[in-house]
Amino acid sequence: MILTRTSEVSSAASILLAEQKDKDAKKSFINYQPTISYTKKHMSKKGTLIQDIGEFGLIDRLTKGLTLQSARTLRGVGDDAAVIRVKDNTCMLVTTDMLLEGVHFDLMYAPLKHLGYKSVVASLSDVCAMNALPEHITASIAISSKFYAEAIDELYDGIKQACSYYHVDLVGGDTTSSTKGLVISISAMGVEQKNHIVYRNSAKPGDLICVTGDLGAAYLGLLLLEREKAIFLENPAIQPDLKNHQYLVQRQLKPEARTDMIKLWRQEGFKPTSMIDVSDGLASDLLHICTQSQVGAVIEEDLVPIKEETKLLALDFKIAPITCALSGGEDYELLFTADPKDLEKIKYLPDISIIGEVLPEEKGVHLQTSGKKQVPIIAQGWNHFNRDKTEQ
Ligand code: ADP
Ligand code: MG
Repeated sequence: MILTRTSEVSSAASILLAEQKDKDAKKSFINYQPTISYTKKHMSKKGTLIQDIGEFGLIDRLTKGLTLQSARTLRGVGDDAAVIRVKDNTCMLVTTDMLLEGVHFDLMYAPLKHLGYKSVVASLSDVCAMNALPEHITASIAISSKFYAEAIDELYDGIKQACSYYHVDLVGGDTTSSTKGLVISISAMGVEQKNHIVYRNSAKPGDLICVTGDLGAAYLGLLLLEREKAIFLENPAIQPDLKNHQYLVQRQLKPEARTDMIKLWRQEGFKPTSMIDVSDGLASDLLHICTQSQVGAVIEEDLVPIKEETKLLALDFKIAPITCALSGGEDYELLFTADPKDLEKIKYLPDISIIGEVLPEEKGVHLQTSGKKQVPIIAQGWNHFNRDKTEQ
């Protein structure tokens, strides 16, 4: 057949090119000759150290050039959850999170039951960040065979408690052995109408910047637990007395996902213009919204919700309270932007603070300090690769 239309010609050419690429890729697997050396494969190549590009640099690098193969994929990599069209206007949200012993948790002070609960919450929170409600999870664990089954029962008690509290079903997972500590990976799924879904990339100049709950407490809970661990290691006869800091410790060990907000907003007919959950810290997560929406922003230090208890302890640790909110992470609150015409609605909704305004991109992203200075916001969220203490 003679192809006459240019689009047909170019699509035929691109199919041929893709086929050739597939053939080349297959050949590189088939012709591979294994070698064994003392230098492990991941250390033998010169190039970019992961610690120099960080988590987000690495994700960008790995996912660059991915071409979507399914017309059902409405959003792939880049938001809190992927959005997959199931039927007509019904979409499925899918997200996954992995927690590693020694990187994300420390079994010297994290009870397994709390850990199970928190692992589920971390994934449910990502579905909430899309303005959707989670319905299903899968749970995968990698575990040393030296663990007692009773310990894993406890982990699963926590997972089951989270399932029951948030009305989600655990529908599967995977179990395997680990030679280097406990690994927990939870995937969460939800189903939502396409027009309800809120992305990170749709904030507009003039929008209000809002956050639910309060920030910084989870980070101080972590500092407290780390301090008590250091004291214990010095003198194992001393057990922590954290009665006066129950809120902070709870925020670290057993956070909650804001499904309550998603339900309430729906009931009140409110829909954010963009949203993300605060898992890495206000700075990093606000920057995600700004970068993806191609906007600038200003937030005011005095408006950022930080509990008195958090402020007092931050000062005890000689850290500015705002730093805990900006860089602490693990608060699992929702950071969102709202159309100013929704101001009346938001004003009367509980547990929301308006902390700033979206600006045109060229204005940059700034914090207005209590002293009325404008300081650029740079991401200082958890960089897992700097916390990684494992040997190469
Ligand atoms: P969150 O903090 O909301 O869980 P992340 O920062 O972990 O989100 O991830 C950002 C985006 O990158 C998400 O869309 C996530 O699915 C994707 N992502 C993270 N790691 C990988 C990876 N190794 N391969 C492909 N996509 C990834
Ligand atoms: Mg998230």
